[in-house]
Amino acid sequence: FVVDEDCDYLFKTVLIGDSAVGKSNLLSRFAKDEFYLDSKPTIGVEFAYRNTKVGDKIVKAQIWDTAGQERFRAITSSYYRGALGAMLVYDITRRGTFENVKKWLHELREFGNRDMVIVLVGNKSDLTDLREVDVEDAQKLAQVENLCFMETSAKDNLNVEDAFLQMITKIYDIA
Ligand code: GDP
Repeated sequence: FVVDEDCDYLFKTVLIGDSAVGKSNLLSRFAKDEFYLDSKPTIGVEFAYRNTKVGDKIVKAQIWDTAGQERFRAITSSYYRGALGAMLVYDITRRGTFENVKKWLHELREFGNRDMVIVLVGNKSDLTDLREVDVEDAQKLAQVENLCFMETSAKDNLNVEDAFLQMITKIYDIA
């Protein structure tokens, strides 16, 4: 980690997961407390910062968003370089995005830091009628793969703060 002027620690973290699972909205919710109905068609890596207090320290989380590059399988090793944490997101209403979690874990283990903190996030928990992934299935996977797990709704602002804070706190505990 790097020490900056307005914080005690600077952590790089990344968002990964299939297209349209809600990565950009989770980030804008956490960084700016905003939600967007339309997907942003932006191409190219983007990131946002947010300072949080952990104990008596100020931690600045630099959170990278794929900004649509996953659609072209164009996420490169530089995206993962130096990242201490990853939020691996799937959409609870699309089973396929959960099936692909294994693929993302494989990529993380190939390109990422060995002891990266990984939080598995099932997003769109507000869409209960459309649910295709049971909580129990995700919990089981998280246990086997040694991940933290949470369901979130970027739309209703449920657990979003908690999910990011869990990742940041865990990184802090390890660092
Ligand atoms: P990304 O491609 O993974 O960055 O996904 P986006 O953040 O662009 O979201 C894709 C679509 O899902 C957009 O239409 C969002 O408005 C919608 N979306 C994102 N999060 C939620 C959520 O928690 N609940 C619901 N109902 N829709 C969401």
